[in-house]
Amino acid sequence: MDFALTEEQQAIFDMAHAFGQEQIAPHARAWEAAGTIPKDLWPRVGELGFGGLYVSEENGGAGLTRLDATLVFEALSMACPSVAAFLSIHNMCAKMLDSFASDELRARVMPKILTLETVLSYCLTEPGSGSDAAALKTRAERTNSGYRLNGTKAFISGGGYSDAYVVMARTGEDGPKGVSTFYVEDGAEGLSFGGLEDKMGWRSQPTRQVQFDNCDISEANLVGNEGKGFTYAMMGLDGGRLNISACSIGAAQTALNMTLDYMGERKAFGQSIDQFQALQFRLADMEIELQAARTFLRQAAWKLDTGAPDATKFCAMAKKFVTEAGSRIVNQCLQLHGGYGYLADYGIEKLVRDLRVHEILEGTNEIMRVITARHLLAAR
Ligand SMILES: Cc1cc2nc3c(=O)[nH]c(=O)nc-3n(C[C@H](O)[C@H](O)[C@H](O)COP(=O)(O)OP(=O)(O)OC[C@H]3O[C@@H](n4cnc5c(N)ncnc54)[C@H](O)[C@@H]3O)c2cc1C
Repeated sequence: MDFALTEEQQAIFDMAHAFGQEQIAPHARAWEAAGTIPKDLWPRVGELGFGGLYVSEENGGAGLTRLDATLVFEALSMACPSVAAFLSIHNMCAKMLDSFASDELRARVMPKILTLETVLSYCLTEPGSGSDAAALKTRAERTNSGYRLNGTKAFISGGGYSDAYVVMARTGEDGPKGVSTFYVEDGAEGLSFGGLEDKMGWRSQPTRQVQFDNCDISEANLVGNEGKGFTYAMMGLDGGRLNISACSIGAAQTALNMTLDYMGERKAFGQSIDQFQALQFRLADMEIELQAARTFLRQAAWKLDTGAPDATKFCAMAKKFVTEAGSRIVNQCLQLHGGYGYLADYGIEKLVRDLRVHEILEGTNEIMRVITARHLLAAR
């Protein structure tokens, strides 16, 4: 057992960290205020190979492991969790296409996905179904030339912003076996978007409903096989959960670093506040929790990389543990900044707002417990 990063892994982390600090961190607050990430960022991210982090090399991707990918998301999230998490969603979709799209569809769309000229959104949730995703109602009826989509997706990160949508829709019976996956390009007739959602965090990412109103797409845009879409969507989420957790770790590390600096400078009762032992204990507790979370996350990533039978359980457990640890740490860091932590200029309150949603999406943390308990009971 070796817990050290390889030289190559350290180089991947350093490259992503440097890019984040130079090209994302200085703009993160302005992008949040604007409610959008400039589109011209993405091709620059693509040049680093981050448009297809774990898309196979055979299909032009970087072919990294899931563990390697968590390093990229941790490093980018040190600059801005909202931007990093948006890239995670794109990569989740890219991997689904890498694994399951036909050769024809892959050859047609993958080159621009890898360069991030095509940015992808993931469309599973609907107004009436989130945790119970298999109850989705968006329908895809067969036509002479392909499929006609009707229905509404809710909470879509990148809705009305992305260049293409990976959409789970019902082609058959009720339940998970009646779901298929489709690739829908922006501009398709019958594709429209709801208003911009006004959110607590992740504010630089536009979130909208995605609506299909007799939206005709060609048969070639079916991803993989009919009836397998729910399986593809869930496989995407295993990796997505690791990435979101890595985003929590990166942001928590940034908050802790800032807090260590701040506490050395801020004086109260004649000494810097880092001299109060009660506060030193809080620093120690945060460091312990952060290191434990990072180790657990990397173990879960290693399980997914090695195809361990309990990988799904570990991804779920890590997502629950790590995202809650991340939220607790950034919230503590805000507290240790006193009133200044509450001011936007200090950069901590944004992290508190951004990390909160990591406990809700990619499967809520209640659903992470449902998955964990299901595996525990089945193995009894
Ligand atoms: C900012 C943001 C971005 C998002 N981006 C995307 C996206 O890009 N694509 C996408 O498809 N979706 C996206 N989502 C949707 C997200 O995945 C869902 O909100 C999430 O899965 C929860 O679904 P819900 O909101 O319908 O809550 P519900 O499923 O209605 O849950 C309500 C509450 O009940 C609990 N609950 C439900 N079932 C159980 C159970 N069996 N046992 C115990 N507790 C349970 C939940 O944990 C939750 O606390 C996004 C959401 C947000 C907020």
